[in-house]
Amino acid sequence: MKDRIATPSKTNEILSRFDMFAKKNYGQNFLVEPGIVDKIARNAMVEGPCCAIEIGPGIGALTQCLCEYADCVVSYEIDERLPEVLSYSLREYDNFELIMKDFLTVDITDKVKALNQQGYRVVVAANLPYYITTPILFHLFESKANIEKITVMMQKEVAERFVAHKNSKDYNALSVITQYLCNCKMLMKVPSNVFLPKPKVDSAVVQFEKKEYSNSIDEPRFFEMVKGCFRQRRKTIRNNYSDYLKDKEKAGRILQKANIDEQRRPETVSLEEFLKLYEVQVNEN
Ligand code: SAM
Repeated sequence: MKDRIATPSKTNEILSRFDMFAKKNYGQNFLVEPGIVDKIARNAMVEGPCCAIEIGPGIGALTQCLCEYADCVVSYEIDERLPEVLSYSLREYDNFELIMKDFLTVDITDKVKALNQQGYRVVVAANLPYYITTPILFHLFESKANIEKITVMMQKEVAERFVAHKNSKDYNALSVITQYLCNCKMLMKVPSNVFLPKPKVDSAVVQFEKKEYSNSIDEPRFFEMVKGCFRQRRKTIRNNYSDYLKDKEKAGRILQKANIDEQRRPETVSLEEFLKLYEVQVNEN
């Protein structure tokens, strides 16, 4: 590989060449550990012609590796200072396209469709801006775009919630909803000292693969029910669910039909049981 961007010395050289500093309000923490960048990029790939969509290339640390492993890379960036920097740092790569847009405002369906038509399988890879990790992921999960794999770095505490199983302290509505939508896997934990500037928290890389459902349910309604059941963690499922339905008697009846003991806490209820609860609820109406 050409001169690696993801090292402290190269990153400092690029930043000082462009008289640039990391902007906190854009969540800028640049990766300066080539081994980690390499591992994220390798794990993000799929067999055959592959195009990687990246959110937030920064000065190009991960982008460079993606350009090495993927056939093409499309990166979305919000910081107007970066096109000039990236045209310097990635000057040796001709398989890179930069789109200057706030990713949360972009409908990527058409872009992914166009890439599929060109024969590429599409994946997403990113070291996410932490202040909008969950909105970005749900923007991806809710899009109808044919994205095969999403491999992203985020704050470790948030990563642990995404992959948490029932009966663990991190298991909550976010875990249930995400695991309904995707298969999720923790790829690695990453210490804070591989970033410049060094964030206050550790990080982790999680991989998501969207699940396919043939007869999908009314998802927004199911998600509202799950959030309602977790509204107060210390309360029993019956109390939370009663508040959600605003009907204690009905809540008890539905829980019983779904075979869920009303004294249980929400964190003991599995995704399958929440789906069963929802199914019984729908049939009651
Ligand atoms: N990929 C680089 C790396 O690993 O060193 C930079 C990662 S940094 C944590 C997050 C990047 O996302 C920054 O470049 C930031 O400007 C960009 N960003 C922040 N908000 C964004 C948004 N809404 N849309 C697109 N990019 C965004």
